[in-house]
Amino acid sequence: MISVRQLRKTFQTPVVKEGKLAGIRTLLSRSYKEKEAVRDVSFNIESGEFVGYIGPNGAGKSTTIKMLTGILHPTSGEVLIHGLSPQKHRRRVVAHLGVVFGQRTQLWWDLPVKDSYEILAAMYRVEEATARRRLGELEQLLELREFLDTPVRKLSLGQRMRADLAAAMLHDPDILFLDEPTIGLDVVAKRSIRGFLKALNEEFGKTILLTTHDMDDIEQLCERVIVINHGQIGYDGSIHQLRERIGLPTMLKITFRGPYAVPADWELPFRIVGQEAGLLTLACNRKELKAMDVLRIVSS
Ligand code: ADP
Ligand code: MG
Repeated sequence: MISVRQLRKTFQTPVVKEGKLAGIRTLLSRSYKEKEAVRDVSFNIESGEFVGYIGPNGAGKSTTIKMLTGILHPTSGEVLIHGLSPQKHRRRVVAHLGVVFGQRTQLWWDLPVKDSYEILAAMYRVEEATARRRLGELEQLLELREFLDTPVRKLSLGQRMRADLAAAMLHDPDILFLDEPTIGLDVVAKRSIRGFLKALNEEFGKTILLTTHDMDDIEQLCERVIVINHGQIGYDGSIHQLRERIGLPTMLKITFRGPYAVPADWELPFRIVGQEAGLLTLACNRKELKAMDVLRIVSS
């Protein structure tokens, strides 16, 4: 459904001159330095997948997403979405895509939120009745009603993110590219966004590629993660295997219906990291121990 082949993007930035008239000399200069933001990235994403795209700052995540959406042209390599190139068949491809850049709203800053939706619906040629019905659904799912009449600049960050997500969904795309949609949000706002994304994927079957700094986002949402570093893919696989590979323990949270006690002389092949009323948190190495074994020990 999404196929990325040997994708590269090299940026050329003018070398800044120093000294007298530096500004003008930089402007007239023909010397550039090259930055390989993305080099040789390949992957496929199938329909219905929820994929995390993670990596440190400057790794090339946003640049990849911009090439996937057709905003940037690759230096070389190819992107195909439903067999079409986002660069060559922009109009047909964008009908399939919903895009959110957490760092930048796609809504009109000074307009009430609902006016932005009207403009976007017209831009995407969504029929009026369809747009109204869809907005009604999104209003409920994302709790938009309280701020539909508010100009975007007056929204809290959490509200703005919800507003942007709704905007991305207005034309009912089947694929979502989300670049840091939880950046800067507090715990409550994050939870609400995650709930919505989970529903989009599980109930509405949307295919989602998500970049984030937040490992909790990934753990709660993505079966598969792709790690990019210095423009190259370092890992593509399940979150469990990634944990094993970097030596992180797997956390198990066990909820008890009533009070429980941990025997003092318990000899356990795992670590107890939290003991609260009705909730026991354990850490274990999945290579050495299966979740079912842990449950058997705990229940005995
Ligand atoms: P990420 O989203 O993973 O933080 P980006 O894709 O934004 O990383 O950036 C990757 C690299 O490319 C960074 O070194 C960044 O400075 C550089 N870069 C991004 N956009 C441009 C641009 N328009 N011009 C020059 N360099 C850029
Ligand atoms: Mg980025």
